[in-house]
Amino acid sequence: MSQVYNFSAGPAVLPKEVLQQAAEEMLDWHGSGMSVMEMSHRGKEFISIYEAAVRDLRELLAVPANYKILFMQGGGIGQNAIIPMNLVGLKTQPATVDFILTGSWSGKSFKEAKKYCNANLAATAEDSKFTAIPARDSWRLSKDAAYVHICTNETIDGIEFQDAPDVAADTGGAPIVADMSSHILSRAVDVSKYGVIFGGAQKNIGPAGVTVVIVREDLLGHALPICPSAFNWKLVAEADSMYNTPPTYGIYIAGLVFQWLKRNGGVAAMEQRNIEKANLLYGYLDSTEFYINRVDNSCRSRMNVPFYLRDESLNEAFLAGAKERRLLQLKGHKSVGGMRASIYNAMPIEGVTALIDYLKDFEKKHG
Ligand code: PMP
Repeated sequence: MSQVYNFSAGPAVLPKEVLQQAAEEMLDWHGSGMSVMEMSHRGKEFISIYEAAVRDLRELLAVPANYKILFMQGGGIGQNAIIPMNLVGLKTQPATVDFILTGSWSGKSFKEAKKYCNANLAATAEDSKFTAIPARDSWRLSKDAAYVHICTNETIDGIEFQDAPDVAADTGGAPIVADMSSHILSRAVDVSKYGVIFGGAQKNIGPAGVTVVIVREDLLGHALPICPSAFNWKLVAEADSMYNTPPTYGIYIAGLVFQWLKRNGGVAAMEQRNIEKANLLYGYLDSTEFYINRVDNSCRSRMNVPFYLRDESLNEAFLAGAKERRLLQLKGHKSVGGMRASIYNAMPIEGVTALIDYLKDFEKKHG
């Protein structure tokens, strides 16, 4: 089989071991005579897969007992509507929700939420062209917000929060809702600082089609009457994510990824490896004038590294040469152009060094 390094932002690279195990178990899961795809979601086989996945995710992220873990559908974009429909009911209507705009994904969340609440733009990174997180003391938070929405890793812009901001004093204790789609499980996180953590699975967790929602129990039960039942977190939590048929195969693969993480030292070990990979790549980009990364040092993403060639007329040649070396999916998001290397948990360090070797050789040839 040909070795490639896949730098896609998502759906993205998965651990080879996980794919091999899934292949081996494809036709006959643990002597059941069935593929996981064919199992009833209420049968004992699938329930055991589901329970192990929830238990392992809880352990990996040290999720406190007063939080529910939900596996839903609809992706991060679905949650942009599902979250306000579940949370604005915490306040009298129309409720206010604060948004910290740090890039494309928080921007999309802000826009969608306007359908359900007074969405307040408490801070925006627009002035810096989305290269820095606005300083905490510049945020204009509302006194009585239902919640504060942040995207802790902006997949397109390459900006990452290093910590959960403290907003309680200014908002009267509003919970923080965090879109962690593109860096969940890549670094240690203190779940207790958040009201809700959510993310699509297709970057660091598994295949597209599963959305993970980690929600503090006191935030359940406030859904607006218009909220579809399948998206009402309380109903989903009470049914152990089986209010409707869950994405069973995706949950199974996610469970295998959780087991892989546990075998490899868990989130702490991943974080060390991710720091090492990011330092190598940014270190090289910073050492040359040929490539540019504009994101402020304080908030550069360890997962998504956007960069530009100083001479953008070389973009096509760069991508063609990368493909020849089997370095795939390096083209930046169409909204920002340039290049982007996504280096999620499953990207081995050898993938990053192969990329750096290519960056050097390309520069030598064209610089
Ligand atoms: N939030 C972030 C940070 C993302 O990176 C993405 C997808 N790239 C989304 C939300 C949207 O996810 P989905 O396409 O699964 O709805």
